Amino acid sequence: MTRPARATFDAQAVRSNLRLVKQHTAGRRVMAIVKADGYGHGVLRMAHALNDVDAFGVASIEEAVRLRDAGITQSIVLLEGPFEARELTDIVGHRLESVVHNREQARLFAANDTTPLWIKIDTGMHRLGFAPEQVPEIVATLTRPGRALRFMTHFASAHFIGDVSVTNQLALFTSTLADLPGERCSANSSAILGWPQSHGDWVRPGLMLYGVSPFANSVGPSLGLRPAMTLTSALIAVKRVAAGESVGYGKGFVCPQAMPVGIVAFGYADGYPRHAATGAPILVNSVRTQVIGEASMDMMAVDLRAVPEARVGDPVILWGEGLPVEEVARAAATIPYDLLCRMRMRARIVERHA
Ligand SMILES: *Cc1c(COP(=O)(O)O)cnc(C)c1O
Repeated sequence: MTRPARATFDAQAVRSNLRLVKQHTAGRRVMAIVKADGYGHGVLRMAHALNDVDAFGVASIEEAVRLRDAGITQSIVLLEGPFEARELTDIVGHRLESVVHNREQARLFAANDTTPLWIKIDTGMHRLGFAPEQVPEIVATLTRPGRALRFMTHFASAHFIGDVSVTNQLALFTSTLADLPGERCSANSSAILGWPQSHGDWVRPGLMLYGVSPFANSVGPSLGLRPAMTLTSALIAVKRVAAGESVGYGKGFVCPQAMPVGIVAFGYADGYPRHAATGAPILVNSVRTQVIGEASMDMMAVDLRAVPEARVGDPVILWGEGLPVEEVARAAATIPYDLLCRMRMRARIVERHA
């Protein structure tokens, strides 16, 4: 067999996750967030799977142009706006839309009168956006006959269910815009699921489209989501290791008893987090067991005590169907966003459309 490490992309799962977004937000328009190369899944792959969204949100002109060049016709929004003036040519030429979050960008777009704009308001996250008191002046600067001006804000803590900061940010967003016409957009995945009062005119799901829960205390399947990415490989060695012997580099794991150990063809070069060491969950023959030691570059060791009949060639799931990436992220002391974005097609990718 050729090296068995694979990342399988499931287009049907993505479409099913979009249906769930629409169930939660009936009638709202959807801007699918596909920045960071579609959270590591491939921006084009995601765009082709999501043909019935209203817009795509990206973080760079390069991603936007890739989408246009691939024939994507929906609105494409630059979530951080242009970084330099010369991007304006491509923004106009490719009929892109842009966030405006600072005065430098507002100056650029004051000299252009067609590009639809999303004015970003900082209601408390203190990352990007205008202070509420600056908004009337920015609106005046950017208003042109025939140009759409919309409004956006982003929540700092919508993934904490019931957090008062979301209520406060939403109230400030609403009061800032009380006298201004224009569509509103504030909800990311956690707000879509946890804060229906924030849905506004447009929603901006990212993580949930990939089938992953934005909350620390739940996993995608428990919310009705299906993982878009499944990492699989196989056992390439099975051995019995004596009590007191260590496995892998640096005595990362010392066998407490004589035990069967499997070696999996998947490592940090394939995108597995090195910090998900002993104790991280992994499936062998669909049986849940643990990683032992730390992943090395293209291999890692697994505890086969729960699967004593396992043989070379048997299938392994590192995350995805049957093993939520949220659990592996927790074992690696990080968040699922981080693990997914790091994939960027490192393992060989297989697309599945039915
Ligand atoms: C990344 C991002 C989102 C999507 O957030 P999720 O938590 O992945 O749903 C929405 N809005 C903005 C501005 C973002 O940067």
